[in-house]
Amino acid sequence: MKRVLLLLPTSSYRNDDFLDAARRIGIEIVAAHNYCHQLAPTWGMGPIMALQFDYPVQAAEAVLREINGPLDGVLAVDDSGVELAALLCERLGLPGNPVFAVRMLRDKLLFRQLLADEGCTHPAFRHLLTGEDPRSLLAGLTFPVVVKARRLSGSCGVIRADDAASLVEAVARVRAIQGRCDRDAAALGIVVESFIPGSEYALEGILTHGELTVLALFDKPDPLDGPFFEETLYITPSRLPSVIQARIYDEVARVCRAAGLVTGPIHAEMRVNAQGVWMLEVASRSIGGLCGRILEHLLGTSLEALILRHLVGDPLIVGGVGGGAGVMMIPIPRRGIYDRVHGVAAAQAVPGVTGVTITAQPGQSISPPPAGSSYLGFIFARAASPEEAEAALRQAHAHLRFEIRTGIPAAGRA
Ligand code: ADP
Repeated sequence: MKRVLLLLPTSSYRNDDFLDAARRIGIEIVAAHNYCHQLAPTWGMGPIMALQFDYPVQAAEAVLREINGPLDGVLAVDDSGVELAALLCERLGLPGNPVFAVRMLRDKLLFRQLLADEGCTHPAFRHLLTGEDPRSLLAGLTFPVVVKARRLSGSCGVIRADDAASLVEAVARVRAIQGRCDRDAAALGIVVESFIPGSEYALEGILTHGELTVLALFDKPDPLDGPFFEETLYITPSRLPSVIQARIYDEVARVCRAAGLVTGPIHAEMRVNAQGVWMLEVASRSIGGLCGRILEHLLGTSLEALILRHLVGDPLIVGGVGGGAGVMMIPIPRRGIYDRVHGVAAAQAVPGVTGVTITAQPGQSISPPPAGSSYLGFIFARAASPEEAEAALRQAHAHLRFEIRTGIPAAGRA
């Protein structure tokens, strides 16, 4: 039986899907979680069970010391573990991505520098150091701009600013959010870049010896114009003309090559306008949340099973049925305490809807971006065409009514 070390983030919608897939296809999992080193021992967790993914060198040493028996692969469920996974693959002589490549792609500043160095279409961008006055950037800026934390995901710490006053406010807010999320926030600084108009798409793929296989291209039909960028709909197959789809594939493959990525899942996000394809992100991980579930019938297997099989060296077999599919990440309408939801049965009864999963827990404190990066849940749909899948998701969402209580005000607004 093949044996895989799975790096599980403390909070991920997908941990169970990976564990279930491994059970179904007969892969033994050694599970490691991203836990606080001070709390984990008091919970009785051993060193391999509790690793600090943001200290990859120390975490890798703990794994190498404690791991009992050989591994056939190391896989990170989300972005937080990709650097540790790459480091362990290097140290254990397993196929993996270079550490520098995954580190660069996780960092929005280094990613922009990579695009600039490679001559890819990219927005003008500036690095604003901690403590530096954002007004010092004004001479070289054309509004609107987007202010971003360097290493967060799910649109957390991403804000559009339209003028000098909103820039100052956005910078303060993004700095506060990054300060709460990253231990090295002060050393990171933040990124300020030009706003890219256009519509947005996402590509799901997998690399084998540096060759990109596209698993799906998604349209994101809701406008994402800010000032905050909460994601909602992902619909596949894309309705873009095939010539533009081909340009997107080429651009993602080019960025992967330039970064030095060679293997494993890829999730890329891009904007398209008359000037071309503008890469927002190329990440060495698969799609987040429970969104991957809509790919099962298109791939002929679950995305997690496909990734695990690929990791242990099985040939990549992709082949399912066609048709349209889509997922809605149910947006959080406002910050507060989630109480309950009404209308799930009516939403589930909409033709084409294949599932409604509410992931928020009663009593849970919830925040939309830019402070938060989670959702109330997910609606899944399958239909003959992408248009019908999209319509089913919108109709189902209209049936849902969430009760959200005003929470205790946070010490500092973010
Ligand atoms: P994350 O990794 O948190 O998703 P991104 O850099 O991908 O961060 O930004 C999140 C969202 O913000 C994007 O999906 C996009 O909608 C919007 N966005 C980010 N940068 C820009 C930009 N320069 N111009 C326009 N929209 C942007």
